[in-house]
Amino acid sequence: MDKVITNIPWSKEEADETYHISRWGDGYFDINDQGHLCVLPNQDENGPRIDIAEVLEEMKAQNIPFPIVVRFHDILRSQVKVLNETFRDVIAEANYGGQYNGVYPIKVNQMREVVEEILDAGAPYDYGLEAGSKPELLSVLAFNDNLNALTVLNGYKDEDYLRLALLGNKLGRKVIVVIEKFSELHKILKLSRELNVEPLIGLRAKMAIKGSGKWSDSGGEKAKFGLTIAEMLTAVQILKDEGSLNSLKLFHFHVGSQVTDIRTIKEVVREGARIFTKLVQLGAPLEYFDVGGGLGVDYDGSQSTSDSSMNYKLHDYASDIVYILKEICDAEKVPHPNIVSESGRAITARHSCVITNVIDKIETSFTDYATEKMTGEHSLVSNMRELLETINIENAQEVYNDALDFKKECLNAFRLGILKLEERATLETLFWKITKRISALLPEMEFIPDNLYDIDQGIAPQYLCNFSIFQSAPDLWAIGQLLPIVPITKLNIKPHNNGTLVDITCDSDGKINKFIDINETKNLLPLHELTPNEDYYIGLFMTGAYQDVMGDLHNLFGRLNEVHVFCDDEDPTDFYIEEVIKGSSAESVLSAMQYNPEAMAYTMKKNIDRQIASGKINPREGVRLVDFYEECLKSYTYLKN
Ligand SMILES: *Cc1c(COP(=O)(O)O)cnc(C)c1O
Repeated sequence: MDKVITNIPWSKEEADETYHISRWGDGYFDINDQGHLCVLPNQDENGPRIDIAEVLEEMKAQNIPFPIVVRFHDILRSQVKVLNETFRDVIAEANYGGQYNGVYPIKVNQMREVVEEILDAGAPYDYGLEAGSKPELLSVLAFNDNLNALTVLNGYKDEDYLRLALLGNKLGRKVIVVIEKFSELHKILKLSRELNVEPLIGLRAKMAIKGSGKWSDSGGEKAKFGLTIAEMLTAVQILKDEGSLNSLKLFHFHVGSQVTDIRTIKEVVREGARIFTKLVQLGAPLEYFDVGGGLGVDYDGSQSTSDSSMNYKLHDYASDIVYILKEICDAEKVPHPNIVSESGRAITARHSCVITNVIDKIETSFTDYATEKMTGEHSLVSNMRELLETINIENAQEVYNDALDFKKECLNAFRLGILKLEERATLETLFWKITKRISALLPEMEFIPDNLYDIDQGIAPQYLCNFSIFQSAPDLWAIGQLLPIVPITKLNIKPHNNGTLVDITCDSDGKINKFIDINETKNLLPLHELTPNEDYYIGLFMTGAYQDVMGDLHNLFGRLNEVHVFCDDEDPTDFYIEEVIKGSSAESVLSAMQYNPEAMAYTMKKNIDRQIASGKINPREGVRLVDFYEECLKSYTYLKN
């Protein structure tokens, strides 16, 4: 057997180069002396540090099973502050005449605790909310009661939606209805007369410029939402004719989420600023310039225009918007409007992560089978064994080609009945041994031949993780989004394997084999050897935007247990757990699919009773079985471990 060396010390720098923590972490994440990943809630190396492993210990002490979502509310608060202050700083530095009036689009993460935290952290800045549907509007109306903060309403609207918006106006709130579709304008004017309240109206422009990245179709002329220039001009005329021009407050566009290239921002603000100023010159009393969402998150830390990255920083984003808008307003002799952004991803992505326990390591290359020479064995087997014994750096490429040939011949011989089952097992085991030995030689090779390049992938172990990608990281499966993935502990020990991750769904798509790297991506993630009786945890980071709330019930794996962590400088651990929210039970996901768990338990009991009556199960055992079934209905949907 190959000897496994699992305790080679590893430096913090080496770990960082492998998992790129300082690149994607934005100062919020670091490795401590025990080799644990930790959170720096104030982005300050000398400030408080929350050891994530300690949070997990506390979870275990409270019997909260994995997988879990951990939310760091301080990161959420910090992101709100950083966004608002960056805009304020740039506005002051540019001598810009308007203010920043940001709104958080709740579709990015509608969790009540998340929305409340954002509103609380944003209160000093009159930070508002954005809704894109009726249920979101119901929530936004109840929560955003700051009369100085905006409530921006996007999405298609029916009469009830518009009535709810006007209810907000009746309460003295700054609720702005953004017209996405021409017919909404007539409806809002009619209803506002009916309810006797002045509406606040925005116009969403269909921009000629398309975004960059995965969501670029949200912008451009074929976009689903927005008015063409001709429609906007007509809208202004209608408002004039109806005597409601004073209601027209906001100009809006949205080029799509995760804009990867700053040039897109520059161009779209340029186009938007021209439309805006010309509309003002035509008499539209617009006060707000709303740049929508799109502010990106550098998931892979590459600072590039790859889909999971961005080639700019928040400060560049704010500067481009403020300075371009100022320049064009000045040239067109129009007062500087207040600036609104609907940044969601950038606010919430970093604050939460999913932590899963590794259940097992699945080896694709089984090498424990006996391979000693047997008397009378087939020559194919002997040939394969000879190959194994001759491998060196010089002949590795040739040996591998021969081994592939022998393996193919072995299969043919087996189909023809020439090879015994045991011989096939021996031959395949020898093949895996050859592959492993060659792969161990690769680091010493100056030049890696083409056919050996992917040899690692064939033998890479799969780490079976207790979670469902479809519930916890849907974009990873659906659109190939990358997320940083890092072991929570052992970062001071050199990882022994390169592996992939597989989840516990029965879906062959439930796997992760693309990981962040500086150039492009890598197919294997360095991971540690599993030790008996020792837990190994892997974290998927930056799941706070969209992922948290978009997950589905594939295989009926439900919502995760959640812990909400707050920083507390006074506490020796620097944190406290404010809240634990229980994830779904089997019962609750079954109910969501129209099952009746009570009736199911009753049916099971009747079946068991029948077996008892016929003497096949004794009564004591019968009661235990009924109890067990009911207990499973009440328990967490993931693997108990
Ligand atoms: C989704 C959406 C947003 C949020 O975009 P992010 O890129 O997550 O900031 C903002 N505005 C509108 C209209 C949206 O549809």
